[in-house]
Amino acid sequence: MLKKELRWFFPEKPEEIPDILKKEAKVAFHGGGTSILRVKSDAITAMIDLSRLGWNKVRKDGSSVVIGATATFNEVVRSTASTSCSFRMLKDALSRAASNPIRNRITVGGSLADFPPWSDLVATLIALDARVTWLEDGKSEKKCSVAEFIDKKLGKEKNLVREIIVPEKELSFCVKRLARTSFEYGMFNLAVCGVMKDGAIESPVIVVTGTKDRVSRQTEAEAALAGKVLTDEVIRDAAGRVKVDFNADVNFGAEYKASMVGVYLRDALAEIAGRK
Ligand SMILES: Cc1cc2nc3c(=O)[nH]c(=O)nc-3n(C[C@H](O)[C@H](O)[C@H](O)COP(=O)(O)OP(=O)(O)OC[C@H]3O[C@@H](n4cnc5c(N)ncnc54)[C@H](O)[C@@H]3O)c2cc1C
Repeated sequence: MLKKELRWFFPEKPEEIPDILKKEAKVAFHGGGTSILRVKSDAITAMIDLSRLGWNKVRKDGSSVVIGATATFNEVVRSTASTSCSFRMLKDALSRAASNPIRNRITVGGSLADFPPWSDLVATLIALDARVTWLEDGKSEKKCSVAEFIDKKLGKEKNLVREIIVPEKELSFCVKRLARTSFEYGMFNLAVCGVMKDGAIESPVIVVTGTKDRVSRQTEAEAALAGKVLTDEVIRDAAGRVKVDFNADVNFGAEYKASMVGVYLRDALAEIAGRK
């Protein structure tokens, strides 16, 4: 439960934030607010709502798409900032998350900071080699790849995600999620992409999230695919090299989920090869 005497702040400029962080005992940033109640909310003394910072823009910058942290999943899905394959891959991934009303609330910054096991955002960002900028203690700007950002396991209270930068790339892609119904939490997310040339796949990338280690890059399967024509045999061989550990959950056993990654990878590669 949130405290009744919770103080709310609505900064219009990021410069206002360090002072609030210094004065308050335990602060939470408020993006879409869809998971605040899951995060030890009774200890929070103040909430910093990010909606007045104007960080919800999605824009093209050179050969990248820059997505402000408070852009909602649906704002990204509806954005016409870029027609590149990489941006379409991200839109495809986000359009499957939750339900339409919830996609109107979830922000990319809150989703990246939160990184739940059912994330529809992170696998695709890592597959696309996206980068993130954030403000440490609300002031000094830092930047790194999304993969590194996840590894750092930074505290959400002091590190404010500001932007996500997605390089524009021409590639073939497929994103899949395991769920019993379309609006249910995904049990895992699988993002696959690569450049198709004369039927062969170059620079393949396979990322799974929702695993025991949160993220699992399938380097062995990638190596088995690199530079190869996507025949049924090549696809079967790559899928057989998937190595992934899951925890069991209320719906599915760990082994079942691991075997489904192989099944979904086969389907994804067949789709990329144009056979599905
Ligand atoms: C019923 C339901 C179903 C859902 N299904 C899915 C799904 O299928 N796929 C999916 O991807 N997601 C899904 N979600 C969303 C997911 O569970 C999280 O709620 C969401 O990722 C949080 O985003 P938010 O913008 O609402 O963040 P908030 O709830 O506002 O914040 C989440 C955490 O991140 C911090 N935070 C917020 N913004 C920032 C920022 N810019 N920088 C640093 N820290 C920040 C907050 O302080 C808090 O600790 C679902 C949510 C619900 C309620």
